[in-house]
Amino acid sequence: MTSEPLSAKYRTGKVYLCKLAHGGDLLDGITSFCKEKKIKMAAVSAIGALSAATVAYYDQKKRVYREITFKGRYEILGLTGNVSLKDGSPLCHAHLVCGDGKGRVFGGHLLRGCPVFACELTVTVLKGRPLERGYDEATGLPLWRE
Ligand code: ZN
Repeated sequence: MTSEPLSAKYRTGKVYLCKLAHGGDLLDGITSFCKEKKIKMAAVSAIGALSAATVAYYDQKKRVYREITFKGRYEILGLTGNVSLKDGSPLCHAHLVCGDGKGRVFGGHLLRGCPVFACELTVTVLKGRPLERGYDEATGLPLWRE
């Protein structure tokens, strides 16, 4: 089953670099920063280190997120994602790639439960009509809608 692609066009606004607070939660830190700056749409990326990691894997058949917790200290090798609106509030959707002390890599859909050891966040504000998330029948996910 296929559906029509949805796209929207934006101009780049301000670009923020932000050092997130040591000990704070990564996802909460990104969301709080966007709320504080009244950012509705953005592209986000980050590098840094975490004192633990919690991510999720979306089970496409059962349509549920399976949470995966890693207890250890990790590099944030890459975080990439976006900010758009859900129920009128900015929501950050990001995926995280971590590396451990042996250079092994893992990751997933970013969840709360990633205590920041250090994090350099880049937020590129997108100017234009914000996209709003809503339930998507085809996937069971809160995806962008017209
Ligand atoms: Zn995701």
